Amino acid sequence: MHDAISSKPASSASRVLEAVFGYSHFRGRQAEIIEHVVGGGDALVLMPTGGGKSLCYQIPALLRTGVAVVISPLIALMTDQVTALKQQGVRAAALNSSLPPEERAETERALHTGDIDLLYIAPERLLNSDLMQRLATVNVALFAIDEAHCVSQWGHDFRPEYLQLGVIAERFPGVPRIALTATADQRTREEIRDRLLPGDAASFVSSFDRPNIRYEVGLKERPRDQLLQFIRDRHAGESGIVYCMSRRATEQIADWLNTRGVPALAYHAGLEPTLRAHHQARFIREEGLVMVATVAFGMGIDKPDVRFVAHLDLPKTLEAYYQETGRAGRDGLPAEAWLVYGLQDIYRIRQMGAESQAGEGHKRREQQRLEALLGFCETSGCRRPTLLAHFGESYAGPCGNCDNCQTPPRTWDAADPARRLLSCVYRTGQRFGATHVIDVLLGQDNERIRQRGHNRLSTFGIGTDLPRATWQSVARQLLAHGYLEPDPEGHGGLRLNDACRPLLRGERGLSLREDLPVRRPEPRSRVAAADVAMAPDTWAALRAQRRRLAETEGVPPYVIFHDATLL
Ligand code: ADP
Ligand code: MG
Repeated sequence: MHDAISSKPASSASRVLEAVFGYSHFRGRQAEIIEHVVGGGDALVLMPTGGGKSLCYQIPALLRTGVAVVISPLIALMTDQVTALKQQGVRAAALNSSLPPEERAETERALHTGDIDLLYIAPERLLNSDLMQRLATVNVALFAIDEAHCVSQWGHDFRPEYLQLGVIAERFPGVPRIALTATADQRTREEIRDRLLPGDAASFVSSFDRPNIRYEVGLKERPRDQLLQFIRDRHAGESGIVYCMSRRATEQIADWLNTRGVPALAYHAGLEPTLRAHHQARFIREEGLVMVATVAFGMGIDKPDVRFVAHLDLPKTLEAYYQETGRAGRDGLPAEAWLVYGLQDIYRIRQMGAESQAGEGHKRREQQRLEALLGFCETSGCRRPTLLAHFGESYAGPCGNCDNCQTPPRTWDAADPARRLLSCVYRTGQRFGATHVIDVLLGQDNERIRQRGHNRLSTFGIGTDLPRATWQSVARQLLAHGYLEPDPEGHGGLRLNDACRPLLRGERGLSLREDLPVRRPEPRSRVAAADVAMAPDTWAALRAQRRRLAETEGVPPYVIFHDATLL
């Protein structure tokens, strides 16, 4: 009944690729996957966003007899695909709750007469027994489960309905199933296999490297200005996504960008649904719009020419970072992933980890995820191997295309300042935040210090040889590396972690990253920002000048200059 057209020559897939989709070559493992599915095999397809997963089931759908049923979690996603397929002359249709009854009836009729090659449905539709029965009476070519990671309870896209898709195997034995996702997390892969592909499905894992994405991670100073400068300098007039943690921030930043001449829209789950849909539609349709969004925005956004994804807050995990930044450059052209973060961000996520009510095992995993994210942010080496290693992939590197490859960060021996800062945290009672501790180190004479008697501590004023910015850098990295941790009271205080004992006892040293300024001053007048913006070589010259100063004037290399002092 569900015979594969395996007698057709292998080149029939290439012919469909060319005749229907207009492409001359398969990408990556597409050809293998298509051949496997056309031949009736089950498959788990792991391919990064933009890798070309859709063709892996669309071409088999056209080569096998019967209708291919595609399960997709979002109506918007279905609509886009069906529209695109119809334009290419493919008989595709969707069944979802947003359809007018006549259209639904029409689709059901066509399904019966065998006039549909691809039927897109939401998971809850399939589970509807009516449709199940209908499908049992027609020829089903294959089942494709797109965004299959929605079956994972650990991920942030979990859809309970996905859990029930296991019934497909029972109800339609012999019909090939193909589950597709861009999620690389090992645990999620196992869950997809267990729940959606029992039996011996073949796995097709592609490299998750996105060579056209350039990664840059910087220090958060004045995030809005830094973002504006980044957009003006490198992405003027281009489409991009800016991720923020809070809903309020998305609206404020979108408004602010608009006043600065960067057309921007906000997107978050709290927006009125029609407005939200309108913003999404405009972003997809128009060119040069910046979407300032919470993580609610993204899954299924198939906009090929997103030129940058910026993060103004740390994402939850490295996995989330990868997914979010993966929305850039789906067309294969150069794109950028840009992130700024500071001590507060690290503090916040470390605290979330500590407060989590989860059980021990889960907590340990969360801890590992957190360390992976911070490790990526703080690394002095090429970003790519660090990112890909998290997904079990080894990358020979260096890529030559990330910030660290292009401007290798210098490291400095920070053991002595680190010990001074840690002692000061200890002496002040392990309940104050970095600002206060640094005030004490710098011997600041303020009310708070005098009230607490901290001006009488042995650590008072022992840090005047270094500027505040350097101390902030030390504090941030000590927190990132786990020498310091948020105090359990949750009032923003820092306390020592056991890990700092060997450091304090002088049994181990500490080398830290020298922070580079990533912010350029905002031009004061309105005279053409483009004219004032520095060319990349000016920027390089500034850095060189800074290094020279370090060598000739004996200014410690780790002093963080503010751009203004050099201009
Ligand atoms: P994914 O679902 O893996 O994120 P898509 O299937 O949406 O990726 O494909 C991403 C883009 O790549 C689409 O614009 C698609 O048309 C294009 N594409 C896919 N396969 C090929 C190919 N073999 N040659 C050229 N372009 C392709
Ligand atoms: Mg897809």
